Amino acid sequence: MAEIYDLLIVGGGPAGLTAATYARRAAKSVLILEKGAFGGQITWSPKVENFPGLLSVSGTELGDMLLAQAMEQGAEVELEEAVSVEKREDSLFSTCTDSGTTYLSRTVILATGARPRRTNLPHEEELIGNGICFCAVCDGAFYRGCKVAVYGGGNSALQDALFLADLCSEVTVIHRRDSFRGEAKLVEALRARSNVRLLTGTIITALEGDGELNGIRVSTAGKEALLPVDGLFIAIGHQPDNEAFRAMLRLDDSGYAASGEDCLTETAGLFVAGDCRAKTVRQVTTAAADGAVAALAACHYLDT
Ligand code: NAP
Repeated sequence: MAEIYDLLIVGGGPAGLTAATYARRAAKSVLILEKGAFGGQITWSPKVENFPGLLSVSGTELGDMLLAQAMEQGAEVELEEAVSVEKREDSLFSTCTDSGTTYLSRTVILATGARPRRTNLPHEEELIGNGICFCAVCDGAFYRGCKVAVYGGGNSALQDALFLADLCSEVTVIHRRDSFRGEAKLVEALRARSNVRLLTGTIITALEGDGELNGIRVSTAGKEALLPVDGLFIAIGHQPDNEAFRAMLRLDDSGYAASGEDCLTETAGLFVAGDCRAKTVRQVTTAAADGAVAALAACHYLDT
């Protein structure tokens, strides 16, 4: 008979990996399903300098450490995408994956994170990978010596721009408002760079290029201009990926799982943790905190 796990965790980012560590330390059997890279979105950050106890670490290193910690505690991992979760009449959860495997568990934590938001401008899809990127750490090296733009005004955009400033001849940060959402310290660091230009109060109105991006049209206070660039790094936030689990969850208008700080859902035994749930602060620290809360709630459910 197939193994029945105490806890199945969907998503191997900081929330899911922390949940695994906590549940293993409570002697529960744990399986983590991850569809891409362990560590989640943080692996795209060149430097993390606000995780407690770590002065400065790359996002990939932090992801590796969180994974090593969970596995050291005995968590099992599979690189598979969960495509559905159902609660059966016998109260067990049945999770199906893209490889056709079905896993059974007594509890489930959804820690699916969020994916980069698109501009939804014409030709965006066909230009992804051909000039349009969502991760400076992953793709920045392809634009060494080139002119690039970064779209967004949050910490991701600012960090991406700083990273690219070391590689590219020119970096233009385009942000729709006049003040940045990201940290003032990052804005200051960008202002100090001679090859960085901050274009605020500006939106991108069109993506230019046939098969490969060669420019973007921007609009500042209604005035249009063409900006020739080889690459555009889009960092305008994220959106959740909860559709596959809609039957088990209440979603808010933006698609985030409607759950409080207790990480509970309307389905007994199903919990949510990290960026996939409705919350005001989305940081690695708050994702990890959710992982601990959700795992302890799952343990309580299992024990009672
Ligand atoms: P974010 O903070 O939500 O910023 C998104 C930016 O994109 C905002 O400036 C927003 O503009 C802009 N934007 C949103 N939709 C847009 C649209 N349709 N068109 C044009 N611009 C649009 O997202 P993020 O930068 O990805 O960061 C997410 C969270 O992760 C944040 O809490 C951030 O602090 C955190 N983070 C932490 C680290 C770190 O700790 N090392 C690194 C990166 C990110 P408005 O400002 O006008 O809304």
